[in-house]
Amino acid sequence: MPSPVEQPVFPPANAPLSPRAAYVHVPFCRHRCGYCNFTLIAGRDDLIESYLTALGQELAQLGTPREVDTIFLGGGTPTHLPPPQLQRLLELVRHWFPPTSGYEFSVEANPADVSDERVAVLAAGGVTRLSLGAQSFDANKLRLLERDHDAATIRSAATRARAAGFALSLDLIFGTPGETLDDWQRDLDAALELQPDHLSTYGLTIEKGTTFWSRRDRGELLPVDEERERALYLATIDRLTAAGFEHYEVSNFARPGRRCRHNEVYWAARGYYAVGPGAARYVDGRRETNHRSTTTWLARVRAGESPVAESETLPPPERAREALVLGLRKLLEGVEYRAFATEFGFDPHELGGDELRRLITTGAIDDRDGRLRLTRDGLLIADWIWSRLLRG
Ligand code: SF4
Repeated sequence: MPSPVEQPVFPPANAPLSPRAAYVHVPFCRHRCGYCNFTLIAGRDDLIESYLTALGQELAQLGTPREVDTIFLGGGTPTHLPPPQLQRLLELVRHWFPPTSGYEFSVEANPADVSDERVAVLAAGGVTRLSLGAQSFDANKLRLLERDHDAATIRSAATRARAAGFALSLDLIFGTPGETLDDWQRDLDAALELQPDHLSTYGLTIEKGTTFWSRRDRGELLPVDEERERALYLATIDRLTAAGFEHYEVSNFARPGRRCRHNEVYWAARGYYAVGPGAARYVDGRRETNHRSTTTWLARVRAGESPVAESETLPPPERAREALVLGLRKLLEGVEYRAFATEFGFDPHELGGDELRRLITTGAIDDRDGRLRLTRDGLLIADWIWSRLLRG
């Protein structure tokens, strides 16, 4: 066990009393895409009304409205809600999480849903940032991913978002079966033409329980090999940084001053509220996750029972270890030793022990100027590094 630095303080003396960020999970989609294992219920729009009622009940458990700096509506697809219900959702969220001035309010959107009417509802509801699930501009790739939009739909959604004054983020997926470096470069170029403020790029992962998983087992889907996936990832970093984006997190790129402040709360290991099926919150040092099944969550909330499926309070060293891993995801700042020790009560070197020393010696983590930072080599094995450091 690592030894605490001087006087360990937990919870940290300078931590805010209440979280300043809120996440709301909206579990509806038209259909489930073959690669998706998020918490959602497809083709059950008949449950939207019950969901809104239950969400109001879950939020009422807060007792009093909680002021926040950032709100994030994710899913599922928040914009799958018809405009009147989307409006009610926004009103409900803003009532319980009144935002401070200069707030950030992000909503995940499916390009095909971004109609003039929905954009007007989002703007009137105080949304400041649209995160568009573009995934690709290539018709074959979008078909393979079972998405219901095309490149023209992404472009018009982006134009509408811009006209409404939203900051624009695009999600893209790389490493789909058969994808070449040229294919991916074309996707990046098409995304950059839309002049987004922010880009999130994810390598396709085939998760157990998805139809992609069974298709791969039957030999119908052949994933790209690791070497290709690395080449695509490195090409992403080179192309986007050359275009003026900061590579500020493993999968995230932003124009200066345009980072996702809400996600930065997670990476700083700070607290956040969360409501809705499958939502995970971190309040007063306690981590809780709601039931993933929308129908179970609904039934429990409506019966006045707790929607929580799992809950734990991490002991200080584990919490610090988790904060170390989250902090290393912040590629530009990394982990500043002193600030980390003050906030989490442990010296990061002692916490990381031999494992961290090895990672520094092998060049996966850079250790200088009072900070630990993941290197380009480290980025390529980031998931492996996290598992080593969390093991303690
Ligand atoms: S639209 Fe997004 S959340 Fe919905 S099923 Fe497809 S990938 Fe999953």
